[in-house]
Amino acid sequence: MSMNSIIEELKKNINAFEKQVAVEEVGAVLEVGDGIARLSGLEKCQASEMLEFPGNTFGVALNLEEETVGAVILGDYSHIKEGDVVKRTGRILSVPVGDELIGRVVNPLGVPKDGGAAFTSKKFYPIEKIAPGVMTREPVNQPVQTGIKAIDAMIPIGRGQRELIIGDRQTGKTAVAIDTIINQKGQDMICVYVAIGQKESKVARIVAKLKETGAMDYTIVVSAGSSDPAALLYIAPYAGVAMAEYFMDKGKDVLVIYDDLSKQAWAYREISLLLRRPPGREAFPGDVFYLHSRLLERACRRNQESGGGSITALPIIETQAGDISAYIPTNVISITDGQIFLESDLFFRGIRPALNVGISVSRVGSSAQIKPMKKVAGKMKLNMAQFREMEAFAQFASDLDPETKKQIDLGQRLVEVLKQPQYQPVPVANQVAIIYAINNGYANDVAVKEIRAWEEKFHEFLAAKKRALLDKIGAGNWDEAVEKELKEALDEFKK
Ligand code: ATP
Ligand code: MG
Repeated sequence: MSMNSIIEELKKNINAFEKQVAVEEVGAVLEVGDGIARLSGLEKCQASEMLEFPGNTFGVALNLEEETVGAVILGDYSHIKEGDVVKRTGRILSVPVGDELIGRVVNPLGVPKDGGAAFTSKKFYPIEKIAPGVMTREPVNQPVQTGIKAIDAMIPIGRGQRELIIGDRQTGKTAVAIDTIINQKGQDMICVYVAIGQKESKVARIVAKLKETGAMDYTIVVSAGSSDPAALLYIAPYAGVAMAEYFMDKGKDVLVIYDDLSKQAWAYREISLLLRRPPGREAFPGDVFYLHSRLLERACRRNQESGGGSITALPIIETQAGDISAYIPTNVISITDGQIFLESDLFFRGIRPALNVGISVSRVGSSAQIKPMKKVAGKMKLNMAQFREMEAFAQFASDLDPETKKQIDLGQRLVEVLKQPQYQPVPVANQVAIIYAINNGYANDVAVKEIRAWEEKFHEFLAAKKRALLDKIGAGNWDEAVEKELKEALDEFKK
């Protein structure tokens, strides 16, 4: 090889040389405390990227600042100290997904909490994901049957909808959610129950109940307990929806419950204050709205071209003394398609579920109600509202004009029928039958306090003698013939 050709070759190489910026994959801990670490040297780090600390401990990058990165440490952080090496993983925090998770209780990182086998699945989904675009969605058109009469009749929920359950402490919020899960048996729905900041004993009781009723066969429980680090509470709902997305991508319908998002917001506030983000209203960081909006956006009904799956979200929010105008409640109300308001007042008067019919709404669900329910319950909300207005006069029953008396009689009977014990969901066909009976005066001669026993007997009668009719109604059939059949059944029952 001649000298010239060597020089040529070198020149070519020099020209082809591209200066590459070395990616800083390794950094160091500047300070650490309260589960938060400030790190230097991770220039290319992405938001929500997983970071590896010594001792097989992981963290998530939350604050990307000019010189430093603020991260939360997931799990025990007592062994981490200043000067430790931190590695980027290049992966957005992900959780295992798949059929394997059904029937299991896991923490927000997808690690089993039920003592069962570890997952072998190689499939992971990132916990943060951009929600499906509007063009891949379609309107809600299929109901989620909660089995709770007051909800299915008056505040119906559709698959793909986001319906908020809101109320003070101990008003039956969790009960509504758990009954809804129990009622999904045989409805081709997968459920994900995300418990955020609850006592482990409470979650264990819920899991036991789900097992007892067979609901764990189609349910995943994700739990970040009250004693877990705030970081786990913060990521729990995102982990839950990532697990749900796996099934939605397969064209399935999924129901996700976040119990509750108030506690997630408190955890996020704690982390943000430790990261020294400027506190805003109620000391929450400025992006607390985004905390919930990007989560709830991920619930939707996909159109057929996009696989047709859906995620229905039932977030739960706890209020203080019924104050729905506080910061977090107003945020979440504005992000959801409706609210189920539960009130202590009603709860203590024995009206359970303690649903305030007047201010509870479902903005999209009624289009998803089955036809018979639409027909019989159409005016129910109005009747109930009118009854509430006149209720105060009920004690003067003897002086009332017949029209008012009729409305009060109807209202009192409806209130009785809408009372429902826990863990006893009512199939939609039975709901239609009993509401029809009340609305059409079949129970006018039954004393108000006897109504619940009367209803019980009616359902027993239907189950024993009118299966075919129930099946017909349950399948969404309603016309003159079906109505006639129901009338005849009622006449027969009354005898
Ligand atoms: P917390 O604020 O503590 O999370 P919550 O609002 O989730 O409470 P639940 O735990 O669901 O309320 O219910 C509170 C209590 O009321 C429980 O003891 C539950 O068993 C009871 N309860 C809930 N719903 C009903 C119902 N429909 N009938 C009878 N009891 C009920
Ligand atoms: Mg609860």
